[in-house]
Amino acid sequence: MKIRISGLGNDTYIDNFDGDFKEIGLEDPFFGKYKTMVVLEKFDDQIILEVSSDIISRMICDRCGMEFKKKIESQYKMVYLLRNVKNSNEELDFNYLAPNTNQIDIKNDVRDYLLLAIPMKKLCKDDCKGLCYKCGSNLNNGDCDCNFDEIDDRWKALLDLKKNLNTN
Ligand SMILES: [Zn+2]
Ligand SMILES: [Zn+2]
Repeated sequence: MKIRISGLGNDTYIDNFDGDFKEIGLEDPFFGKYKTMVVLEKFDDQIILEVSSDIISRMICDRCGMEFKKKIESQYKMVYLLRNVKNSNEELDFNYLAPNTNQIDIKNDVRDYLLLAIPMKKLCKDDCKGLCYKCGSNLNNGDCDCNFDEIDDRWKALLDLKKNLNTN
């Protein structure tokens, strides 16, 4: 995923990439094709890249345990300063490119930002009902036949206790 930067005038450029997920070093649970769009802004002494990517990933729902597919989207912005750096210990937050650099390879950044975009909480849908804690059936497919009277009994015990506390 290489972007040619030699001979660019100061302007905004758009580049599109796509290909198999393995080409950018991604593995399962990602699959299929990635798509990446790059907006490049060229200035005299710097280049700013705004990179948006998406790809499909397989996930297991945290609530119901079913596998589902989700589009993972990532976006990042990177600034490259076009200057020769003698002391590489200074200003580590920037990417330096020698002024005669021909291209920028963004493959690893695209991969890393897609990996970071995997959500911590994985839900097949926002209102996933999960599994019944008694029979284990998937409540997204309809209610189960479980009887939840026990809960009522516990409430009743608590209410009785409260009543006793108040009278004592
Ligand atoms: Zn679910
Ligand atoms: Zn049940």
